[in-house]
Amino acid sequence: MRYISTRGQAPVRDFSGVLLAGLAEDGGLYMPQSWPHFSADELRAMRGLPYPDLAARVMRDFVGDCIDEATLLRLCRESYANFGSPAVVPLIQLGPNLWTQELFHGPTLAFKDMALQLVGRLFDHVLSQRDERVTIVGATSGDTGSAAIEACAGRERVDIVILHPEGRTSEVQRRQMTSVLAANVKNLAVAGTFDDCQDLVKAMFADVPFRSEVHLSAVNSINWARILGQIPYYVAGALALGAPDCEIDFAVPTGNFGNVLAAYAAKRIGVPIGRLVVASNRNDILARFLAHNDMSAKGVEPSLSPSMDIQVSSNFERLLYELLDRDAAKTAATMVEFRATGKMPISHEAWQKATALFVGYRMGDDETLSAIKALHASSGYLADPHTIIGIEAARALGREGVPIIAEATAHPAKFPDAIMAATGIHPPLPAHLADLYEREERYTCVPAEIEVIEAEVRALVSRNAA
Ligand SMILES: *Cc1c(COP(=O)(O)O)cnc(C)c1O
Repeated sequence: MRYISTRGQAPVRDFSGVLLAGLAEDGGLYMPQSWPHFSADELRAMRGLPYPDLAARVMRDFVGDCIDEATLLRLCRESYANFGSPAVVPLIQLGPNLWTQELFHGPTLAFKDMALQLVGRLFDHVLSQRDERVTIVGATSGDTGSAAIEACAGRERVDIVILHPEGRTSEVQRRQMTSVLAANVKNLAVAGTFDDCQDLVKAMFADVPFRSEVHLSAVNSINWARILGQIPYYVAGALALGAPDCEIDFAVPTGNFGNVLAAYAAKRIGVPIGRLVVASNRNDILARFLAHNDMSAKGVEPSLSPSMDIQVSSNFERLLYELLDRDAAKTAATMVEFRATGKMPISHEAWQKATALFVGYRMGDDETLSAIKALHASSGYLADPHTIIGIEAARALGREGVPIIAEATAHPAKFPDAIMAATGIHPPLPAHLADLYEREERYTCVPAEIEVIEAEVRALVSRNAA
């Protein structure tokens, strides 16, 4: 399998190449040159497979010759071995033809673990084939940092440095990062905001001598391997409810458009997925786009579902490329204009293609709390403030006679304040994190200065290279 950039000006790469490269050199995102396809019989043959085996089967053609089948299967089994559910991604029925699929049984209690547990292992494997090391740097406002740290802790060929804004993450989120004491992990608490952290990461990548000295890399959600690691659970959920012999719809709490893009990919490889509901909080750029072709960026407003607080969904470019029939020049021009004006010009024809695939849904904070409360009162089920938006979207936009699955993207204990406000219940952490508040923490407080941060990265790298 070959991968090409959505902007058409970067080298064509194989799977290992796009894994290590992340963003393409032309500013575009990597996409498979063509979509693999599973026939209905091939899909039926996957029914009942344990999740890791199904995942390896779904990913095989995307990975191509880069990793042999037995190794891919082993990496998948290792990735999901420590999940808190034997099904890995269990389906829970909430109503007639309405299910939720719990993606939060990984080590950090959010769906980011589904891809990142695998991506950390893929990095190690590919780097040892090449006898190389990398240094992963990233900025986080919470969820992604902890999932990336858990994925990389103790890996032999990777060092990881995560910047978080000092005092501006929740205590659960901070402790999930800072209580990982592996020698290849460094947490930097930056005196500044999340935007400062992000700017510092960008500055490190822009410092070309530094970048090559420490072999900088990233695992953010524009990395194709992150999308790939999210396709299998759509296949698994659909097969469990009768696909390929009936259509299945999905509702997905959406921020950067990575998760719902994986659902689109599942459809492209042959799973009969009908409607994809894109669920948003008050930061509703995607809902506005789908309702009236209005893709205009506004300022981000904080909400109860912070992982969906976005202004621009970085993975949308991959869908745009598909909507424009893979015309890279048009995609590049559209993205450049969006950057310049804050408004994405999309033709009526391309917009109609989008609305044939996706439908948008939006929910504010007050409704989010009342929906958490109502669901708990009627069923005993506790949904976190991201998941509940997907569940309500599925209720509102599900179709008569068609099963719909709402993706549960975080464990309720990850957002105890919202659950407490809605229900008066303090959701307990699962057993493996029950002592989180007693664990030793390790992090370094630093000013928001690039020289200081780079010196911290160098110190970690030279210690571990020795
Ligand atoms: C990251 C995240 C999302 C948004 O997912 P995208 O792939 O960015 O659209 C939704 N819910 C939770 C809990 C998340 O951590």
